[in-house]
Amino acid sequence: MQSTSSPRVITLGTAGGPRWWKGDTKDRAGIATAVVVGERFYLVDAGHGVGRRIRQAGLELADLGGIFITHLHSDHTIDIPSLVVFGTHELQHRAGNPVPVFGPGNRGALPPVSPFATEAPQPVAPENPTPGTADMIRGIVAAYATDLNDRILDSLRPSPLELLELNDIEIPAGLGYHVNENPTPDMEPFEVFRDEYVTVTAILVEHPPVAPAFAFRFDTAGGSVTISGDTCATANLVRLAKDTDLLLHEAIDFEWVEGLYGHRTDDEGRASRDHHYKSHTSVAGAVEQARAAGARRLALHHLVPGSADDTVWAQGETLFPGRFLVPEDLDVIDLVPDAAASGSSPTPASAGAGSRDEGTQVPSGTTAPTTVPAR
Ligand SMILES: [Zn+2]
Ligand SMILES: [Zn+2]
Repeated sequence: MQSTSSPRVITLGTAGGPRWWKGDTKDRAGIATAVVVGERFYLVDAGHGVGRRIRQAGLELADLGGIFITHLHSDHTIDIPSLVVFGTHELQHRAGNPVPVFGPGNRGALPPVSPFATEAPQPVAPENPTPGTADMIRGIVAAYATDLNDRILDSLRPSPLELLELNDIEIPAGLGYHVNENPTPDMEPFEVFRDEYVTVTAILVEHPPVAPAFAFRFDTAGGSVTISGDTCATANLVRLAKDTDLLLHEAIDFEWVEGLYGHRTDDEGRASRDHHYKSHTSVAGAVEQARAAGARRLALHHLVPGSADDTVWAQGETLFPGRFLVPEDLDVIDLVPDAAASGSSPTPASAGAGSRDEGTQVPSGTTAPTTVPAR
């Protein structure tokens, strides 16, 4: 039997990319992952639909132990406003015990203009063109001031800024980090957060032109999970994920990229194609990262395109020596699989064709996070 108290991941949203994918038969929400430990859960990224998915997963925002943002691309942050603003209702008892939020700080400099540009583009918000996480959330509060002040003055609700503790992640000194020149220096993981349930460490990953971009690792008394964030293959991710029980790694279908941009000769088409190759990882690349790290299990998420056929992602099954998963939204994955069901060592992928047997799904209408029989 799987224990309902074993640390686990619930895949709240498994699609990547700043869009709603046309033809997505799986109805994948934007990238967001819950790490559930004991009575608490920790949210990594807040893609579109995250609030609904938290509700569907049977999680309570009041139990939120922290929010961790890998990087400030909109597909990872677009529903932070809904958490911040609706949070005045859902988190109202957290005044005095605010939810810690961790994410990248101010970039400090704009990225270089694409070499494919034939004329210089003009940035938006030139007065503060690269806000970090804390600035972004303060800006969200300011943008919703009319609504929030109604509630604060008329309904005596707390301000979101009393319910959230905003932290820009400080990058360790002495690495030679530079936002444009050296965004992914070789480094050791560093601690971002610790409480009685988890220790969260981070490392810089490579997702140009975004910087900083982080991967996070959660170590618990009952296993570990490492979440890649958006990245191309990098030694740093391998270092962070060393011997991890579960690696959630992003994946992109480069055949789709070629179909979309390969024939284009215009500036935007060439620049977009180039971006995908230097900033993301193929299925085979994700497998290679997991193998190099000695990860016991690999689950692909942040799938781009979110509408791709299962066969695109399933090719990893024959490549990865451990357990390989392609979760859908609301799948529940124990950090360490039940010993009686799976044994203590990785099970060959061939023993788990489809590999959905560990990724059980939250039943609709559930009121508490739980593991359920495999479907
Ligand atoms: Zn992304
Ligand atoms: Zn990204």
